[in-house]
Amino acid sequence: MSLRGRRLLIAAVVLVAAALAAGRLLKHARAQLVPAYVAVGDDARALLQPSLGRQVAVLLGDLRPHPVRPHLIALTFDDGPYPVESPLLLEQLRALHVPATFLLIGRDVQQFPGLARAIPAGGNEVENHTFSHPDLDRMTAAEVERELHEGAGALESAGLHDRALRTRMRPPHGRYTLATIQAAQRAGFAVVLWTDDPGDWRTLTPQAIVTHAVAHATAPEILLLHSGKLATIEGLPSIVGRFRAAGYRFVTVGELLQAVPEGELNDPQRHVLGG
Ligand SMILES: [Zn+2]
Repeated sequence: MSLRGRRLLIAAVVLVAAALAAGRLLKHARAQLVPAYVAVGDDARALLQPSLGRQVAVLLGDLRPHPVRPHLIALTFDDGPYPVESPLLLEQLRALHVPATFLLIGRDVQQFPGLARAIPAGGNEVENHTFSHPDLDRMTAAEVERELHEGAGALESAGLHDRALRTRMRPPHGRYTLATIQAAQRAGFAVVLWTDDPGDWRTLTPQAIVTHAVAHATAPEILLLHSGKLATIEGLPSIVGRFRAAGYRFVTVGELLQAVPEGELNDPQRHVLGG
């Protein structure tokens, strides 16, 4: 190859590498622009539709060294309770000495109240995942509010008394609009989203879930998982082991909110887990 040819090749390789790096950076910045948590009193529009200035700040923030953020992780389990998986999951969490946060469906709690009542033992937290698990983004504000109040009512009737089930919710299927969030806020609910979604609701192998969680670790972290998946239960020891080895402590969402200012939760620091 001529000298000119070699130079062109090197230039092409450098350009492709730069484009790949920029793409990764943008992808991460976009993920960071979705809030992990929206409090009742927050300006939901500002959080969900960030200004260009905020988008640039997040993008640039990735290039600067961050101050060290608390290494706290909240495992959150959507759906259920389920007759087979929920007891197995609780047993696994007990064995690992890890508290978690359970987002329960009111309708399913009505069906299995005993399973629901077993959850708070071991320091687990219970939050609201609506009564019937609908697509809230297709509902009116009044319907969203009714789903949340009926969900909380079903949980309380089953004997659950965690204050969080009346004050914190997560939209089913990860589906929401600005109007959904504002309706939840009006009903008195903060919205708990996540910093990482490994997609365990699809049927993945335990290893795929662990690999995703490790590769997308942030400090702090809210990990979105599902309580009806055996692969998730099977992958838990590895997830817990990897995060603990990196100095993380496992907490409930309530404990996380007490320990970390909301601004840090919504601008988590990427964290490379060793080993
Ligand atoms: Zn769900």
